[in-house]
Amino acid sequence: MESKHIVWSYIERKLAEKSIFNADTGCLVWRGAKSSRKSLVYGKLRVRLPTHHASKSHYVHRLAYMCKTQTEISHENRVSHLCNNSLCIAPGHVHLETLSVNVRRRTCFQFGVCLGHDSEPHCVSMYLFKNCTFIYVKQFNVHTNKQINR
Ligand SMILES: [Zn+2]
Ligand SMILES: [Zn+2]
Repeated sequence: MESKHIVWSYIERKLAEKSIFNADTGCLVWRGAKSSRKSLVYGKLRVRLPTHHASKSHYVHRLAYMCKTQTEISHENRVSHLCNNSLCIAPGHVHLETLSVNVRRRTCFQFGVCLGHDSEPHCVSMYLFKNCTFIYVKQFNVHTNKQINR
């Protein structure tokens, strides 16, 4: 019988191989295969989970959460991003939470500041700020070298 731990370590290694760490945001950005769902792009990887008999394509942010907790989660369980970067698989940026909390994070992203989530962790503000700058640049067609240092 194989140890579950070996399977999680294998998946973790696969995730690490195909991602790049962004020191500015703390995000571990997936560079492997991707698929679009609604307006968001998610990373995907074909692996076999410890209790499964065959390999299957999984969203990498969900795999990252499963590796972190060493526990398999079902489809009803929603893994969201504290950093609002759908391609991020940093263990500290993926979090299991309800749809309503997840939706509220989009509001934080729009405002560029975390509005708080009761007992749930705060959004990762560094990335929010970066995105805020990006939206500003895009919206007002400001030269990309211009930073908003406020
Ligand atoms: Zn992140
Ligand atoms: Zn927030």
